[in-house]
Amino acid sequence: MQHEFTIQVSPEIAANPNRLKTTVSKKNNIPLQEIKYIQVLKRSIDARQRAIKVNLKLKVFVQEEFVDSSIELPEYPFVSNAPEVVIIGAGPAGLFAALRCIELGCKPIVLERGKDVRTRRRDLKAINRDHIVDEDSNYCFGEGGAGTYSDGKLYTRSKKRGDVNRILELLVAFGATDQILVEAHPHIGTNKLPGIIAAIREKIIERGGEIHFETRVIDFEIRNSEINGVTLLGGSTIATNKLILATGHSARDIFELLYHKQIEIEAKPFALGVRVEHSQQLIDQIQYKCEVRSPYLPPSPYSIVKQVRGRGMYSFCMCPGGVIAPCATSPGEVVTNGWSPSKRDQPTANSGIVIELRMEDFKPFSNYGPLSGMYFQKSIEQQAWKVGGRTQRVPAQRLIDMVEGKVSSNLPVTSYKPGLTSVDMNAVFPEFIHDTLKDGFKAFDKSMRGYLTNEAVVHAPESRTSSPVRIPRDWKTLEHLQIKGLYPCGEGAGYAGGIISAAIDGEKCAAACVATIKA
Ligand code: FAD
Repeated sequence: MQHEFTIQVSPEIAANPNRLKTTVSKKNNIPLQEIKYIQVLKRSIDARQRAIKVNLKLKVFVQEEFVDSSIELPEYPFVSNAPEVVIIGAGPAGLFAALRCIELGCKPIVLERGKDVRTRRRDLKAINRDHIVDEDSNYCFGEGGAGTYSDGKLYTRSKKRGDVNRILELLVAFGATDQILVEAHPHIGTNKLPGIIAAIREKIIERGGEIHFETRVIDFEIRNSEINGVTLLGGSTIATNKLILATGHSARDIFELLYHKQIEIEAKPFALGVRVEHSQQLIDQIQYKCEVRSPYLPPSPYSIVKQVRGRGMYSFCMCPGGVIAPCATSPGEVVTNGWSPSKRDQPTANSGIVIELRMEDFKPFSNYGPLSGMYFQKSIEQQAWKVGGRTQRVPAQRLIDMVEGKVSSNLPVTSYKPGLTSVDMNAVFPEFIHDTLKDGFKAFDKSMRGYLTNEAVVHAPESRTSSPVRIPRDWKTLEHLQIKGLYPCGEGAGYAGGIISAAIDGEKCAAACVATIKA
């Protein structure tokens, strides 16, 4: 017999299978010796009260043995001679589009400007150590896309649990821990993601698909409002009338190309701000209301939203036990984001703290038309580069100093490897962003007492939160509104925000594209 229960227990009991068994036995009047196995289906931490609880959804096997059935990959047919779909970008959207094409009997040809996960590491080292930004290989560009060297948080606002679970199960089948199916807020970690991405690549190639690295698309060929092919840097061309465009939110040259070819695109609002680093110990103390974190609890995340000066201001992509990374994609700009290893065991906690921008904020750049938001974003990143000292050193300020408008007389070492330059954040941001952030941090401290401390350091800017451009598509066929055979896909096109939603959109675009081939 199997019974499903939800139960709230202490972190110690949740971490100890024998104690959990005893608790379940007592609470549900099941003789202890009859419980053969307890499978945890869902786990979340409730830290609202001083006595922290763990909510568990359990499947209890009573007088019945548990049979472990590992998650299998779908049947992928061999597609080397099947109809072809060209996919630009090997981020989550592009890779999951490629897998879905194979599953549905088409051959994906993936074109990726960056390098494979292993070779890409050298270029990340070069940004961190030598301040060299390679325009094709960096924290945003390369195999696995922007999500490869990340915290690998796998939560999404998507309400379609079926779609989310399918992606999570595929990730498990490609090597992720099955705990991502259990945790309410799953994450994978920078050290584990590259292996999973490489396993996806190997499967695509094994089934007859193609992946071409260091292959940057620089032009589209369009005839009679239908996609006809792409041109690569170096001049060669690839003919295709099925093109999935999954180039991410940082491919500014693609947005420029679309604009100059008069292919319809739209400016879209996004959020922008700073990345703040605290000690993980302080965040644990605030969130868990304790002096020292229990060994049964993970490093605490936080999530906070406030309305400040009529705008939403919120934490974004919070990385417990993580590191701040230099995420510029071109020389002459500074961009921050964060990553964590799977154990989230670094001593620092960082989070983007961003405010919502509106279309009217982009007015000074209105001569760029639909690229006005992108130019606004770029102007702040370039200003940060100038103020920071024209390297990858990041403009930084202690948190209370920022709120009080004082330049910090000294800065502690933070996890951001290229180094910090002490600045007044006023020099980086327009006044409305700076003042909203200042007020917002005071409001944050009311919800998270101790957050506003001069031990915390603000790094600027956090600017690549989502795409500044939307590439419009038909809601049903998912093709571009003007260009037949062109499928704008993933975060860069404005249809996803994060690894999971990008992967879901990749699958959707692949299915829509293959349907027209098979029709
Ligand atoms: P991308 O991942 O941006 O992939 C686009 C790909 O297209 C890139 O590989 C790029 O090289 C390629 N490309 C671009 N232009 C061209 C061209 N002209 N020719 C050929 N190839 C091209 N999200 C989460 O959900 N959880 C997290 O924890 C998380 N942490 C992050 C940490 C960091 C440091 C960063 C940078 C991002 C993080 N994100 C996180 C965001 C997440 O990575 C993105 O939302 C996601 O990767 C978007 O997927 P995508 O496939 O749409 O685009």
